Amino acid sequence: MKADLLFTGSELLTGLVENTNAGYLSRRLGGAGIQVREQRVLPDDLQAIAAAMERSLCLSDVVIVTGGLGPTDDDLTREAAAYCLRRKLRPDARQMQILEFFFQERGLEMPEANRKQALVIEGSTPLDNPRGTAPGALIETEGKLLFLLPGPPLEMQPMFEEAVLPLLRGRARDDFFLVKTLKCTGLGESQLAAAVKELGRWDNPSLSLAARGMEVHLQLKAQGETAAVEELIAAASHRLRRALRDYLYGEDEDTLAAVVSRLLIESGQTLALAESCSGGLLADMITDVPGSSRFFKGGLVAYSLAAKEASLGLDRTFLEREGAVSEWTARAMASAARRKLDATIGVGITGVAGPDTDLDGRPLGLVYIAIDNKDRVSCREMHFRGIRRTVKIRAAQAALTMLWRRVRPEV
Ligand code: ATP
Repeated sequence: MKADLLFTGSELLTGLVENTNAGYLSRRLGGAGIQVREQRVLPDDLQAIAAAMERSLCLSDVVIVTGGLGPTDDDLTREAAAYCLRRKLRPDARQMQILEFFFQERGLEMPEANRKQALVIEGSTPLDNPRGTAPGALIETEGKLLFLLPGPPLEMQPMFEEAVLPLLRGRARDDFFLVKTLKCTGLGESQLAAAVKELGRWDNPSLSLAARGMEVHLQLKAQGETAAVEELIAAASHRLRRALRDYLYGEDEDTLAAVVSRLLIESGQTLALAESCSGGLLADMITDVPGSSRFFKGGLVAYSLAAKEASLGLDRTFLEREGAVSEWTARAMASAARRKLDATIGVGITGVAGPDTDLDGRPLGLVYIAIDNKDRVSCREMHFRGIRRTVKIRAAQAALTMLWRRVRPEV
């Protein structure tokens, strides 16, 4: 089964909005055995959208369009689909009720412009959108499926997961294609490439590598009959997991922060942070994960020597002797965070974010990261390259990687 993805919105073409729907849909479709044949970004232009739909419906089995379902004049996706399929748009009483309820519930009067969102293409199935006003639509035409989904990712993603993906999974054919992404941290792209090469040839599944921020993602792609493809991917994932066990932390939609959070919750641990050069970035990454309140006690951004002394209780004489950026300070920060916030694990990060050497002459990018889990305090000295922001991101990611290695179960 092949799919075309069409993204409407002039703001995507100008770069005002980044097309994050593209990566999300391609990854999720690939993971469900549906190959994406083409992605296109289109302006808010009825003729352009209709022409692209017509072409995609000829060349692919499934066409997914995002955006342009809103109430404004430049939202033209419904109209373009009706025009392309030569079908009528009719007002729908149920959709009107849903819309009226949406505004009523929020104590708002429904603007006149929103009425057009209750127009439904003849013969289509509306897809509910509890998170917004734009209903989606499924239109079957000559054995092909055309889905119209809202543009905002927070509305598009749940609609895709709940209404689109289960339907497509049910229709997948015998000749199957499956993609799985495995995510690694703590090893560079070329070292990882060398490590996977040593495991032999990668034909089916094929294997490609992509550096993504501070991580390297491996993508496995297998083709064949449904059952065989699943086995091929499972066997290859197992081999990679074994060979890369110190680096491979998760797959598909996993994030390192979410995996670490899950492990901390499962093992009943709690976490406290003392951050200097990372400026609270690690706390930010951790609190992005839903449910982080179950294990995260808090974080202190202790930037100056005075703050390290006053808020963490570090000894001024030692601090001055060892320096703010030193192994002693990172260790003392980790232990102080753990004790002060009554956690089972404390992390301390101190370093030189740049752009120059620090006052003690320590080089840009030098970072110490320590972890104290009562039994043991360990510390690593790292040397990162890059601008200030990059050093901060690398420091936070390195700390998450160390935490992951500390809390994952031994096998
Ligand atoms: P709405 O009812 O919110 O207008 P819509 O279906 O009409 O929904 P658009 O007007 O096309 O959607 O886009 C609304 C917003 O959704 C955009 O300004 C942008 O923030 C976000 N958005 C749209 N398309 C994408 C995309 N491909 N990737 C990421 N964000 C997107």
